[in-house]
Amino acid sequence: MAPSPTDAAFFNGYARDRCPLCQSVMVSKSGFDARGVQRYGCLSCGRRFSPLTGTVFEDHRISVEGWFEFLLGIMSYESLAGMARRDRRSPTTPPYQLAKVFMVLDGTQDGVVLTGRVQADEMMYKVPAADRDPALAGRSAGGYSRDNTCIAIACEERDGGSSVFRVLGRGKPSGERAKAAYCPHLARGLELVHDKENSHNAVVRELGLVSEAHDSREIKRLPDDENPLWKVNRLCFLLRLFLDGHSGFDRSDFGGWLDLFSVMMNPPEDRLKKVAMVLDRAMSFPNTLHYRDFYNQKGSSEASKV
Ligand SMILES: [Zn+2]
Repeated sequence: MAPSPTDAAFFNGYARDRCPLCQSVMVSKSGFDARGVQRYGCLSCGRRFSPLTGTVFEDHRISVEGWFEFLLGIMSYESLAGMARRDRRSPTTPPYQLAKVFMVLDGTQDGVVLTGRVQADEMMYKVPAADRDPALAGRSAGGYSRDNTCIAIACEERDGGSSVFRVLGRGKPSGERAKAAYCPHLARGLELVHDKENSHNAVVRELGLVSEAHDSREIKRLPDDENPLWKVNRLCFLLRLFLDGHSGFDRSDFGGWLDLFSVMMNPPEDRLKKVAMVLDRAMSFPNTLHYRDFYNQKGSSEASKV
C-alpha cells in the first residue's frame, strides 16, 4: 500500500530536535520531500534526515494505513499465514514486520504495577513437537511437563483494571521463577487471590502480600460467577485462543506475543486507539530493525527457545 499525504501529516507530528545519526542538537529544518515529509539537516555531521529516520518506518515501504491494517490483523485471532494470503499487495513478509512490532513493544509491560485486589494464575502452553526435549518422548504430557511453557498471568480485579502476561519458564514453576515473573508487577502488601500453587508462597513472602488461596480442585467445580479466579481464568481462555490463532509461532518470540496480547487486554478500549498507541510508541522512541539483522537474529535464536 503506497504512502499517502496523511502519512506526511502523521510523521510531521513528531518534530525532531536531535540528529538521529550523531545525536547532535545542532539541527535545522530544511524543506520537505516529495511526499511532504519534513526534512532536517544536521549542522554537526552534515547529514540529512526526516522524522522517520531510525524508526521502523524508515524504509517507508508500508504506509501508515498499511501498518494500521497489519496491527489490527495481528491483534485479532487471525494467523500470519492467513494475513499474507489476504493482503497480496504487501511488499514485506509479515514475519519481518511482526519482528518490528515486537521491537517497538519491547518493555511496554515493564512499568506495570498492579494494586488492590489481584488475581494470579499460570497457563501452560504446549511447546511445538520440534522443540520438545527428546528425553521426554513417549511420556504423557502432564500439566507441568517440560513440554509446556508456563505463562504467569495477573490482573487487577476491579472493572477496567490492568493485567500482565509474562513467560515464567518451561515446566513446573519454581519459587524463584515465580518471583522473577510476578514481583516486578505487584505492589507491596496487595491482596492476592490465587490457587494453592506452591511457587506463589515465595511471591507472597517477598512482597508481604495478603494471600487468599483457594483449592484449585474445589473452584474448578464452581460456576463462573462464583469462581474467585473468574477474571484471570477468562484471560487464560482468551490468551490460549489468541496463541492458537497464531499456532506454530516461533517460541523465542513468546515475550513479544505476550506484550502484544497485553496491549489487546489493557486500556484504551478502542482498537483503533490501541493501534495509534503502538504507532506513537514507534515514533516517540525511535528504534529499528534492519532486514539483514532480523534474519541473523532468527538464526541465532534457535538455540534459546523457551
Ligand atoms: Zn548529525
